[in-house]
Amino acid sequence: MRPFPGADCDEVTDVKVPDGHKFRIFLMSDLHIDHKKNKEWMRSCLASMSRRDSDKACSYDCLLLPGDLCTSEDQFEESLRALAEAFHMICFCFGNHEAWAHGEKKGCAPARDSFEKLDRIHDICQSLKVYTSPIRILGLEQPLLLLPLWSWYHSSWDREPDLPPQLQPPLDPEKRVSDFRLCKWGSLAEAPDFVFGPGGETSDHLAQRFAERNEAWISAVLDLQRREGGEILSYSHFCPRQELILEKRFSYDQHVPKISGSSYLEEQIRRVNPRVHVFGHTHVAWDTILEGVRYVHWPLGNPKEQGGQTKMQNLSGFLLLLDSVWSPVQFTHWAYFYDYMEPRQPDSTALAPWVSFGYAQVYPEMKAELDKRGLLPKLEGPDGFSAYFPGGVLNNNGEFWQRHASANWRWRLPPDTLSQQRFPCENAACILCAFTRKQEGAEE
Ligand SMILES: [Zn+2]
Ligand SMILES: [Zn+2]
Repeated sequence: MRPFPGADCDEVTDVKVPDGHKFRIFLMSDLHIDHKKNKEWMRSCLASMSRRDSDKACSYDCLLLPGDLCTSEDQFEESLRALAEAFHMICFCFGNHEAWAHGEKKGCAPARDSFEKLDRIHDICQSLKVYTSPIRILGLEQPLLLLPLWSWYHSSWDREPDLPPQLQPPLDPEKRVSDFRLCKWGSLAEAPDFVFGPGGETSDHLAQRFAERNEAWISAVLDLQRREGGEILSYSHFCPRQELILEKRFSYDQHVPKISGSSYLEEQIRRVNPRVHVFGHTHVAWDTILEGVRYVHWPLGNPKEQGGQTKMQNLSGFLLLLDSVWSPVQFTHWAYFYDYMEPRQPDSTALAPWVSFGYAQVYPEMKAELDKRGLLPKLEGPDGFSAYFPGGVLNNNGEFWQRHASANWRWRLPPDTLSQQRFPCENAACILCAFTRKQEGAEE
């Protein structure tokens, strides 16, 4: 029997949806199962699937996992096994947390470097029949090609100017980014001009190295598409385009754009021209269309983020990206902000109020400068920040999120604890319900 195709397979593997079944793709990135709370959340979603999913028996289900599932090898295996029992197939590509050269199995020596750690992760995938190379789904109206794209970030991907030094918090990015301590790059680190960490910088070497691996996959997928048709969904852990992350003035950590994306990845996506590209890593959900390609980021994030920036994902669950038809573009705050409210203004030094307010509290030495620039407005009440968001207070308070815990229920695999709520909600001026109705109307 042919061995199960793993990360070292250059070919496209055909998977046939059984007759009479519909094909569904669920998506969740950045599950970070190392957090106990996240593991419980995942189990709750799976329980929900087996208990309430009436379509389960006639569906063939794929789970897309674009990285940062887990660092620990034992927990990676345990959680992946639980997922593999709930879905018919899983497609995985690694994130930076899988590349941390620790978290070895009990009784095993730590991986020598991150490449060895990733080999171990891919061995686990193979033993659980989780796909890490390209797949073609057959038995649909037209074939669907699922293409993993390996990647890593490099600092030169960030093409937007830094904020003036007086508006930057006194932080040492080299110390703050755990990757710089926990990833080891073996002989690649000896290449001339290789930089990983000092000054918070990352040279292009890693981005290039991982992009090289994709070339054989891209050729095989494009060749098959040319000969036999079909559409492509590509997926990566890192972010391909800067339009898909926050501007520095909106982010507490202004160093984030230097550890987020890869232009090599962007170039490959342009060549592949997928219908959808799915990514992970930034933990700020996004769903938008750029130059004809839909880009989706649907992260769970760490427990602290689940009360804020990933609250919608925490409350409403996995995204059902494809259910015979593609889901409409989902409401995500920041994609909405840039698509409908304001274009990017990378030259602007107008820090968002929640950023300047936070800086003034944590770094009192910045206060005078922030005040001088008029960046410390009086903030009243718990909703003081929300006037900045689409629709103001109405659309960004706790009640808003609660009311929409199950908005778009049709396109979610929610935690077991969530009860279905009315859609549209009772508020006639609700931005999310209006957005959802508009998108679903556009699809028909
Ligand atoms: Zn992550
Ligand atoms: Zn990541």
